[in-house]
Amino acid sequence: MKKFLAAMMTAVLCMGLLTACGSAAEETAETTESVTEATNEAESAEEETAEPEAAEEAAQPEEEAAQPEAEAAVSEALADGVLNVGTNAEFPPFEYVEDNGEPDGFDIALIKAIGEKLGVEVQVENMEFNSLVASIGGKIDVAIAGMTVTDERKEMVDFSNSYYTAVQYVILPKDSEIAAAADLEGKAIGVQLGTTGDFIAEEIAGAEVAQYNKALDAVNDLVNGRLDCVIIDKNPALVFESKFADQVTAVDGAQFNFEAEEYAIAIPKGDTVLAEQINSALQEMIDDGTFDALVEEYIEGSNE
Ligand code: GLN
Repeated sequence: MKKFLAAMMTAVLCMGLLTACGSAAEETAETTESVTEATNEAESAEEETAEPEAAEEAAQPEEEAAQPEAEAAVSEALADGVLNVGTNAEFPPFEYVEDNGEPDGFDIALIKAIGEKLGVEVQVENMEFNSLVASIGGKIDVAIAGMTVTDERKEMVDFSNSYYTAVQYVILPKDSEIAAAADLEGKAIGVQLGTTGDFIAEEIAGAEVAQYNKALDAVNDLVNGRLDCVIIDKNPALVFESKFADQVTAVDGAQFNFEAEEYAIAIPKGDTVLAEQINSALQEMIDDGTFDALVEEYIEGSNE
């Protein structure tokens, strides 16, 4: 009983201190709150995904942050001091292989900056896009790969707050007559295996879908006349349009009724500590202008 009382006293004292001093813990609680808000916003922005499970996850860290010992909470993924990141460096300007053989691009710079904020080393593993989700929590801790948040993927992994809005584009030979959704029916369509472009193409009536691991191989087949079009995300489409300026045009998927997509970092399911840490780092970078500087450096002008 005495012990219990002593513990109670300590707890009360601690709480008094926290309130009086406006300590770091309080700041943490504030940050967590704004991140939670952002997460909730993201949740409600995505169609009607009022999953009670997700709401619970978002609320949990807030409670934890109010207790001093929560400061010690370390995501299992970061316990070794290394953040192992999976990407598919075939998706410029988000990720590509530099002349020195190393992956670079907007996503790579972004995750390295996040790693720096979290005080961990970032190691990037270049792998097939289609293997990323299944490798999270095993070979890799997280994936950043211009990855669109989808309900199917959310069954296997969690996502950070979204950091970019995109849409699928249609790359066409310059002389193509394809101009609307109905024109895509029955066509030979190139896509990257396991991407949202692939999922869209498979829904098109009579389409012959050719799946590639490398987007560039699809575009080469388009240029060689083996395909009628390639469906791929906006920014890579614009990069390929400028690379093959004499042969192809990239058309906004809105013209084909394709919907907007949100990119986010995929993280192990249930790792709310890591989600909070990544979201806070992301928010800090948005607030202090680092995020915009990366957009300018890597994305703007990438298709010129
Ligand atoms: N945004 C698309 C998806 O998530 C394509 C990503 C990619 O090819 N790297 O499926």
